Amino acid sequence: MEKTKDQELKLLLKQFDKHYEKTKALNYVMNVASFDAQTIAPKNDGAVNERSEAMGFWALEDFKHQNDPTYDRLISDLQSQLADLTPEMKRIVFLERKKIDQLKKIDPKDYQDYAVLLSQAQVAWEKAKANDNFDAYAPYLEKILFYVRKFATLTKTVAGPLYNQLLDDYEEGNTIEKLDAFFATLKARIVPLLKKIQQSKVKIRMDFMSRKFPKHEQLAYAKSLLTFIGYDLNAGVLAESVHPFSSEITPSDVRVTTHIYEDNFISNIYSTAHEGGHGIYEQNIGPKVKGTILGHGAAMSIHESQSRFYENVLGRSYAFTEMVFPELKKQFKDQFKDVTLAEYYQAINEAKASLIRTESDELTYSLHIMVRYELEKRLIEGSLKVKDLPTAWNELYQSYLGIKPKNDRTGCLQDVHWSGGAFGYFPSYALGNAISIQLLKTMEKTLSLEKTIKSKDLIPIRDWFTKHVYVYGKLYPPFVLLKKVTGEDLNPSYYCDYLEEKFSKIYKI
Ligand SMILES: [Zn+2]
Repeated sequence: MEKTKDQELKLLLKQFDKHYEKTKALNYVMNVASFDAQTIAPKNDGAVNERSEAMGFWALEDFKHQNDPTYDRLISDLQSQLADLTPEMKRIVFLERKKIDQLKKIDPKDYQDYAVLLSQAQVAWEKAKANDNFDAYAPYLEKILFYVRKFATLTKTVAGPLYNQLLDDYEEGNTIEKLDAFFATLKARIVPLLKKIQQSKVKIRMDFMSRKFPKHEQLAYAKSLLTFIGYDLNAGVLAESVHPFSSEITPSDVRVTTHIYEDNFISNIYSTAHEGGHGIYEQNIGPKVKGTILGHGAAMSIHESQSRFYENVLGRSYAFTEMVFPELKKQFKDQFKDVTLAEYYQAINEAKASLIRTESDELTYSLHIMVRYELEKRLIEGSLKVKDLPTAWNELYQSYLGIKPKNDRTGCLQDVHWSGGAFGYFPSYALGNAISIQLLKTMEKTLSLEKTIKSKDLIPIRDWFTKHVYVYGKLYPPFVLLKKVTGEDLNPSYYCDYLEEKFSKIYKI
């Protein structure tokens, strides 16, 4: 008897679920192993090698699983029944087709060579940075660029320059055209603001920021902070790692990490708030998409809008500082005995031109991203040669931030991204900053941030984001989601207004 269309679809969806079950099991093992490696696993050479081998095995299993020709056919069969699929399933089929087609165009030999190159480049970059030797690293960067360009050319589906493809790979719908306009606005408004701040007479007291805060007390504080902002410690964990990060192991197990420095108390506070923001997003994905391919943050820009929101927009606001400072004074009596609320608020908001992106403040952060955007755009289009990168880097720092690195270690060798082949990724950080404020503007039509903070119950904020953003997971591309929530395309003027208002007050300009 011939199967009805309905039965056929049911069968296809069953096969799809079976395939995804294995994907989830593979992801679970790889996620746990990676979390373990970055937190508590020993770092001796033997352990590192043994771990790399085991992880290589699982990565290969995953590669084979995703490139299985049967799966390719299954997705095609589902495509032929698109009209009968749910909106969620339609989106999943679209994303899977895109992924399979991209992978199919890449020669497995190239794929393997590139993977080897990246692991070598990682070591070469670490050494070059430690020895401040750009020339030793340059050949690796050249080879990486060769592959990045080759892969982007082969898989190109979006119109315009090659760099558009790389941007689209990280943020669906992102283009040079969009970013040029976006960064032009930021440049026109943040650069002059920073110049005014540099001439301001306001002197910010920083001496107490390096006082000693015992590690165990900092960890306890970080946990209470996470709970307070709405992160669920029963469905996650706070661990320590060299570089703070968040990781969704499974939908009900979303972990975050922090780094404790006893002489830099706020580093822990703001790393925790930042990663907590990422964690809150993943913990509150809606039931329709939870546990599916769509059960994650929409894109890196939207994710970063949440981490930056909890870190800066909320965490560095006057209302929040005013609320937590009395508690801090109670808990850390000695460290804060001669510090006023005004001094503390100024200290956590000090804005100044600096060389290192990861240590930069709320105001200047996007300028660091602008430098990288300009440079990678030129590197990909070929108008900038790798050998000229240090000079070009230093010139842009001079032009945007008014300072120049004295060496490449604090210049173009500082970030890990390019040695990992991540070209097109940096802009997401700056987009996240701007999106956090655009979302805030919409939120404030019905929910006042300041009033909510003053009520000492932050859950309505989390619930607002859940209802308008988290619920959809990856159902919509980032810019489509942004428009759906705010009714507008990306509009960086809100972000610039916010920065001008906040920092003009602090620096009395
Ligand atoms: Zn982040």
